[in-house]
Amino acid sequence: MIQDNNKPTSAKPQRGVEGGRSSLAGSGAAPQGLEGLVINKAEIAITAVSPSGFPTDSFPEVAFVGRSNVGKSSLINAMLGRKKLARTSRQPGKTRTINFFSVEDKLYFVDLPGYGYAKVSKAEQEKWAPMVEGYLQNRAPLKRIFLLMDIRHEPSAGDRMIYDWVKHYDLPYTVVATKADKITRNQQPRHLAAMRKALGMADPPVPFSAETRAGRDALWAVILDSTGVDMV
Ligand code: GDP
Repeated sequence: MIQDNNKPTSAKPQRGVEGGRSSLAGSGAAPQGLEGLVINKAEIAITAVSPSGFPTDSFPEVAFVGRSNVGKSSLINAMLGRKKLARTSRQPGKTRTINFFSVEDKLYFVDLPGYGYAKVSKAEQEKWAPMVEGYLQNRAPLKRIFLLMDIRHEPSAGDRMIYDWVKHYDLPYTVVATKADKITRNQQPRHLAAMRKALGMADPPVPFSAETRAGRDALWAVILDSTGVDMV
C-alpha cells in the first residue's frame, strides 16, 4: 500500500490537504501495482488561454508548473509513456497556453506555462501571472499541483512565488525535484534537504528523472491517490 504520512487516503481529497509526501521520496521501491504502468490513451484535449476555454466535463485534474527548462514536458511525456506529447522546449518560453492532456478518459494532466525565461519580452512575462492565477483560483477539478524544481539548484524567486500562491490558495501540492539523474544518488539527500529548507516545507521533494524514470511510480501513486482514479 502507498505510504502517506500526511493524511489518510481518500477517494475525494479536500482542498487544503498538506502538500509534501516525504514517505514516497527516495524510497526506491515501486508502489504495488504501479511498476511500469502503461497508459493506453493520452492526447491533447484542450489548449486554453483563459478560464472560458477550460474543460467543463469535471474530470479530476493534476497540474504541472515550473521554471522554463526545468524538465516539465519531459516529465509529462515520461509519466504518460509518450515521446513528444508535451512539447519539449525547442523554443523556451513560447508555451503561452494552458494545455489539458486527457489521460485514459479519466483525468487531465494540465501543463501550465513555464516561468522565468529571461529572453521572453516583458509584455509576454506579464501575461503569465494572470493566466496561471486564473487557473489556480476556483478550479474545482484541480486535485493537486506539482511544483517542478531542478534538483541541482536552490529554488528561484519564481519557484518561491508559485509556492507562495499554492499555499495562499490552499492547494494540495507536491514539490518534484527534476533531473535527479544529474547528481549522484549519494548527493540526493543533501539537495532534497536544501530545497526543503529553502522553501520551509515539512517534507523533502520527490526526486524524478525523465531519463531513468526514477520517481515515476511514486508520482503516479500520488496522482491516483489525489484524484481517486483507478488505473490498475
Ligand atoms: P520544460 O521547458 O520544462 O518543458 O523542459 P524540457 O522537458 O523541454 O527539458 C529541458 C531540457 O532538459 C531538455 O534538453 C531535456 O532533454 C532536459 N531534461 C529534461 N528532463 C531531464 C531529466 O530528467 N534528466 C536529464 N538529464 N535531462 C532532462
